[in-house]
Parts: sequence; structure tokens; C-alpha cells
Amino acid sequence: MSPFSFPQLVAQPVANSPDSSATPLAPPTAEAVKFVPAHLKLTGEDAGLDCPSCNAATQLAEAGEFLVVACPQCFGFFSQSRNFNSIIEGVRKRYRGIESVQPLDAAQLRVARTCPACQNRFETHAYAGPGTTVVDSCANCRTVWLDGGELERIERAPGRR
Ligand SMILES: [Zn+2]
Ligand SMILES: [Zn+2]
Repeated sequence: MSPFSFPQLVAQPVANSPDSSATPLAPPTAEAVKFVPAHLKLTGEDAGLDCPSCNAATQLAEAGEFLVVACPQCFGFFSQSRNFNSIIEGVRKRYRGIESVQPLDAAQLRVARTCPACQNRFETHAYAGPGTTVVDSCANCRTVWLDGGELERIERAPGRR
């Protein structure tokens, strides 16, 4: 078994909104601020898992009001399945930019990656909601992995917000 535990992770308090006066988690490094997409706020705290995409050490990060595990190098992130739809809803609601659709990269469905928490193989799916993208999930940990850029595709896709 991995020492990593998602339930402990989400039990930690997280600020409810960017305007919250609650004490924020450790501020991201200047370098992280420079590159991190708007929807992920890296905390700088090591999550104890290697990125399933690029093998960099992942960090705890905030995605809206949820705590996730994110890669500071490729910006992929790992969330609990039960939080995934809420994370997407929040990101889509906040988006005010131009809508766009990109073709599904079907080759992504055949990329076999390993869940960094339990070492099971991820299952790949074409995401059923807005945005033509591929999501990886671990049925064992009940987690979802999105590669860097995939949340942006979902965010920008036309449809109800
Ligand atoms: Zn990575
Ligand atoms: Zn797993």
C-alpha cells in the first residue's frame, strides 16, 4: 500500500473562495506563480507522489475549493472522483474567455499510465461532459487524473455553464 492517503488530504481546511479572509495555505513560490494556470494554486507542499505523466514530484494544490494533487512541471492534476464534477463546474462557471472546441486525440485513449497512489493501471475514457478530452481514472483509489491542458479544454468547450 502507498503511504499516500487522499481522505487525509481532503480533510485539511481549504479557503472557500479567493476572497476568503481565512489563512491561505503556504504561498506558491514565485516561479510557480509565473507558470501555474489560473485554476490550480500550488501550495509548495510535497504530495509524496510522482506525476504519472512526467515523473516530477507533485504538490498539494487548490482547485477552487478543493484540494488536489498537481504537477508543478506539466500541470496535470489528480483529484478524488467525487470532487471532479464540482471542480469542473466551478472552472466552467468562472470562465469568461472565448469558447473553442478541439478534436479528440484518440491516441490518448491508448496511453497506459499507472496510478501514482496505488500503482494500478489507470483506465482511460473520453470525457462525457463538455470538451473533447481523455480522462484517466483509478477505480481502486476513486481518483481522476487530467493531463496538463485537459481542464482548459473542458473549460473552453461550449455548453451550459
Ligand atoms: Zn507532470
Ligand atoms: Zn489508484
